[in-house]
Amino acid sequence: MRGGRAGVAVSPADVMAAGLCIGCGSCAAQSDDPEARMDWDRYGQLKPSGGGWLTIPSERFSRTCPFAPAAANEDELAAGQFPSASRIDGQIGRFEKAYVGHVEESSFRADGSSGGLVSWVAAELLERGIVDGVVHVAPTADPQADGRHFRYTISRTVADVRGGAKSRYYPVDLSRALEAIRSTPGRYAVIGIPCFIKAVNLLRAEDPLLRERIAVTLGLVCGHMKSARFVESLAWQMEVGPQAVAAVDFRVKDPERPANWYTAQLVLSGGESRRKDWWHLVDGDWGAGFFQNAACDYCDDVVAETADISFGDAWVEPYSSDGSGTNVVVVRSPALQRLLDDAGQAGRLRLQEVDAAFVRDTQAAGFRQRREGLAYRLAVHGSGLPLRKRVAPRSTGLAARRKLIYRLRRAISRWSHRFFHLARVTRRPGLYLAWARAMLRIYHGLTYSRGRAGRLFDRLLGKQPASGG
Ligand SMILES: Cc1cc2nc3c(=O)[nH]c(=O)nc-3n(C[C@H](O)[C@H](O)[C@H](O)COP(=O)(O)OP(=O)(O)OC[C@H]3O[C@@H](n4cnc5c(N)ncnc54)[C@H](O)[C@@H]3O)c2cc1C
Repeated sequence: MRGGRAGVAVSPADVMAAGLCIGCGSCAAQSDDPEARMDWDRYGQLKPSGGGWLTIPSERFSRTCPFAPAAANEDELAAGQFPSASRIDGQIGRFEKAYVGHVEESSFRADGSSGGLVSWVAAELLERGIVDGVVHVAPTADPQADGRHFRYTISRTVADVRGGAKSRYYPVDLSRALEAIRSTPGRYAVIGIPCFIKAVNLLRAEDPLLRERIAVTLGLVCGHMKSARFVESLAWQMEVGPQAVAAVDFRVKDPERPANWYTAQLVLSGGESRRKDWWHLVDGDWGAGFFQNAACDYCDDVVAETADISFGDAWVEPYSSDGSGTNVVVVRSPALQRLLDDAGQAGRLRLQEVDAAFVRDTQAAGFRQRREGLAYRLAVHGSGLPLRKRVAPRSTGLAARRKLIYRLRRAISRWSHRFFHLARVTRRPGLYLAWARAMLRIYHGLTYSRGRAGRLFDRLLGKQPASGG
């Protein structure tokens, strides 16, 4: 084990009670209890379930759960994995090179949520025989029967990898995929958001079989993880019953419109489809934190610092306005860097090298929330368990308005789960929608000085700087 802290034994129930369970499923995959599994909680989040194992403290669990006290942090893991990285940056971690760009060949770019590079790299790993399977997230065949719209799956053909393209802002867990990796020899690539990749690397540090079989990790830059209720809320706002939803596309691509004007699409069981732009949704402002998993409030890894390669959207101009989609990429594995450089030279990819500052700018709001915001949350709210964060608690040096933004986001995240639950059990969607609309107005006033609320906040607290969220 690298960098972990011995002697701190907690149980999955302790992590859940502290609001720190992201639902990755690493604990269920490790448990010997045949009842161990991942199930929905009442707020539409995946949580470990199934009986006695949940309350048994274990040092191994405490070292391998990404939000447990004895788990090595991202700096410690990355130092072990990439000891000779040519660059080290305080926010994007260790890396070799970073790029902005997209896939030129075939329809990867058109099929992907961003520049299509995640699916391209995964397909290339399969084609070159570097891995035998790609562990990623694909739609389920029958969501109503399955109980989930998306699941982790293992794709063994390029066609299946490509069929799973697109971002899923929806809870998924790795438990079955990890069991399948253990039971089926081969080499695998795992795609995941930062805390899932951290969980995989913590497990690899403990388990020689997983270390040998998981050959490559591909990280997705992450703002936060949402609950499954987001899909139900989309259905309510598109005036259909959630049970009628057969397929979800969170980001329909339209090259004619800026990439950051997201449109969600639901395909209904009868084949009909409905669309709505995110900015017409009561909960479509990503920064407000609707349906956010509570553990995300304690994360300080925006760019999947422990992945061999990470991908995000290039949220800076001129790329944000280019509806075809553009990735920002951080490469930590020298072998993957050569693979990208070769494909760039062959004209299969269009890549331009960028520096750490460019990558940071593409995720400026995410870094504010995970650095300055995390320091503030740690100082004001603490954390239910002692965590190994790279950020020290701090509540000084922040404008009153900034502090209020961090508090409001946290309140919106927490109360969105509760209000939605109430609206769901009473079958009165209007309860949630009216609450969310009011919260959004307050959030926009506070954060962007918009509307009457904005004028009021400006008078009381002084003007908000243009950077907003
Ligand atoms: C919850 C979440 C939050 C994100 N937040 C940000 C952000 O704040 N800023 C930013 O720049 N980018 C963010 N991203 C990443 C972004 O949405 C794109 O996934 C990324 O830019 C890759 O685009 P692509 O076109 O290269 O990938 P594609 O070619 O579309 O391929 C995406 C691949 O990722 C897999 N995948 C999709 N969803 C998941 C998931 N939930 N877990 C594991 N694998 C998955 C798919 O199966 C597919 O293999 C987020 C992604 C997720 C899932």
